[in-house]
Amino acid sequence: MRPARALIDLDALRHNYQLARELSGAQALAVVKADAYGHGAVRCAEALGDLADGFAVACIEEALVLRDAGVRAPILLLEGFFEADELALIDQHQLWCVVHAQWQLEAIEQARLSQPLTVWLKLDSGMHRVGLHPAEYQAAYRRLLASGKVSKIVLMSHFARADEPACPRTAEQLATFQQAREGLAAEVSLRNSPAVLGWPQVPSDWVRPGIMLYGATPFEDAQEQAARLQPVMTLESKVISVRELPAGEPVGYGARFVAERPTRVGVVAMGYADGYPRHAPSGTPVAVDGQLTRLIGRVSMDMLTVDLTDLPQAGLGSRVELWGKQVLASDVALAADSIPYQIFCNLRRVPLLYSGH
Ligand SMILES: *Cc1c(COP(=O)(O)O)cnc(C)c1O
Repeated sequence: MRPARALIDLDALRHNYQLARELSGAQALAVVKADAYGHGAVRCAEALGDLADGFAVACIEEALVLRDAGVRAPILLLEGFFEADELALIDQHQLWCVVHAQWQLEAIEQARLSQPLTVWLKLDSGMHRVGLHPAEYQAAYRRLLASGKVSKIVLMSHFARADEPACPRTAEQLATFQQAREGLAAEVSLRNSPAVLGWPQVPSDWVRPGIMLYGATPFEDAQEQAARLQPVMTLESKVISVRELPAGEPVGYGARFVAERPTRVGVVAMGYADGYPRHAPSGTPVAVDGQLTRLIGRVSMDMLTVDLTDLPQAGLGSRVELWGKQVLASDVALAADSIPYQIFCNLRRVPLLYSGH
């Protein structure tokens, strides 16, 4: 059997969820969109089952996977519905629904529902993707209430630059939000992972942690609270071949790496078809039998190569951690000019093996 696999530590997931709650003092929707950032949405939701106040996903397709698996907790659709006819399923499965546009509001007014909806009314406070304009926010709130189709409204917005601790934009977005919601007596949800970790002054009745649940930092630099996260995924494999190369010999496609000294090369069963970033350059950290070393040469589809020159005890069958508790996914992402969000979401082909809880 090919040794490439991703180990998922569900106890670490629970730890990180509890940290989000502790830091925010709020209720927390665990964001499990995109198959829980590659970690397996059903298993992650089950592991958080008795803890979580609810879950958040990107679309009804993702919500129905959870409902079909028996998840009964609240599930929020972060972009609401894409077509009005989804409202029948939203009603049937009692899903919570973001409203970010006038047409969605009108569709709710016209819908035939068996019971009133929980709506999260989204303000565009400066991200400028989706959300109602500040000038139309109060009117939308009143229309929803007057529709008789809604039992509860949570006021929400989303930060564009909360991962930049020195950036004034987050405070500006907060001020825009506070002004737009003035006088509305409703619960509030503003904070994603970077805001939970780094913006304690931002009020929230509900937080929406995603990446931090999986134990990766959203910040580029070290951050005090992020240091308390526990990595959930360990992507690992084994050395399947060893080469001793004299100085001057190349390794792999395009001869991207040429040995500057006599070099012992370990070939690892892991490649970009598994989601390991092809753009990771020589020097990207990797651990072999618990010892840090570096990627060398170009990543290929099913294999990559690492430097074993200074690890004489390592060889055929040695365990390789591509990322996990020793090599942080955020460090691999940084080296590959990516972000941990993307390298997790890109994971494929490797089996997910669960432990804990
Ligand atoms: C994905 C998403 C989140 C989670 O963001 P993280 O940075 O992963 O914590 C929160 N809110 C909304 C609206 C999202 O789309």
